[in-house]
Amino acid sequence: MTDAVARVARAARLLVALDFDGVLSPLVTDPMAARATPEAKRAVAALMDAPGVTVAFVSGRALGDLRVIAEHDDASRVWLAGSHGAEHWRPGAGQLRADDDTDPADADEIRESAEAAAAAFEGAWIEAKRYGFALHTRTSPDGIEPRAQAAIDELMRTAAPAWRRRDGKHVLEFAWRHEGKDVAVAELRRVTQADAVVFAGDDVTDEDALRSLEEGDLGIRVGPGETAASLRVADPGELAAVLTRLASLRAS
Ligand SMILES: [Mg+2]
Repeated sequence: MTDAVARVARAARLLVALDFDGVLSPLVTDPMAARATPEAKRAVAALMDAPGVTVAFVSGRALGDLRVIAEHDDASRVWLAGSHGAEHWRPGAGQLRADDDTDPADADEIRESAEAAAAAFEGAWIEAKRYGFALHTRTSPDGIEPRAQAAIDELMRTAAPAWRRRDGKHVLEFAWRHEGKDVAVAELRRVTQADAVVFAGDDVTDEDALRSLEEGDLGIRVGPGETAASLRVADPGELAAVLTRLASLRAS
């Protein structure tokens, strides 16, 4: 671990791109109640003060929601990629305009159909997202989640087969924009002209970014699960320790 972190710390320009939920914050039942832990906040602040480092949060959350849970304001120096990279916010520039942000005509109708389908399953609910919706089943009793997901899959097969399907931890998301975290990290790498990238994530969608990393980068998986990352940590607490060590290596 120490070797990999020390190596990446030597890059002239370093991009540290971090998923938010389950990485800087613990996973919680109410998605809007998620907040970074105090250790994670301190580690991110130390990285931002280190020379030649850009910090970015790369999340599946809609940009507006990500700004709320990340307690991100207009003075912040943290770059943001929301909706898996379909939305961007940069220091000094604010939210960037997307090329084509027009909603499909039937988007509301599809979301309402999903809400009606989810209502039949205890604990299941639909979160409206900027580019689609997510089915949440974190609080569903055992055995309900697969049935609720099958019902939504069935609906989407006929209603909107072109929407991108993403699996997560007790979350099933459908979006009409197809951007992934791999594209988000590539764009951040290009714009920041980073010589190396650190990416940390805890879920299936993060593997898009982890698989796209190059020689000299460092991928970190937080928690269990199959991964393309070269380094694994147990939880947000251990990740904060790695980020703090990275910041201190840069500062010295
Ligand atoms: Mg996550």
